[in-house]
Amino acid sequence: MGLEGRCHCGATGFMVTPPPVEIRDCGCELCRKQAALWVACRPSEVRFVRADDQGLYHSGGARVFCRGCGCVISVRGHGPDEAELWINRRLLTG
Ligand SMILES: [Zn+2]
Ligand SMILES: [Zn+2]
Repeated sequence: MGLEGRCHCGATGFMVTPPPVEIRDCGCELCRKQAALWVACRPSEVRFVRADDQGLYHSGGARVFCRGCGCVISVRGHGPDEAELWINRRLLTG
């Protein structure tokens, strides 16, 4: 079973399979200001069931956020492995 995640308003919803284990607490300025805690995933491990109303902010990679509620959803290209998709652990339930 995977772990479900959603932003506060529900415009973005997704499932991560298998459940991620390793948490990355990035200390860079923007990650600290966004208060994001990341889990590093392969893009194939993340299935989006909803991805509405998303905004993109480019700084240290491509950061996706919800335009509706402001939740930080993901960042891509932020770590040494450009293929990884980092998902905000705080959006996962359980
Ligand atoms: Zn939202
Ligand atoms: Zn960072």
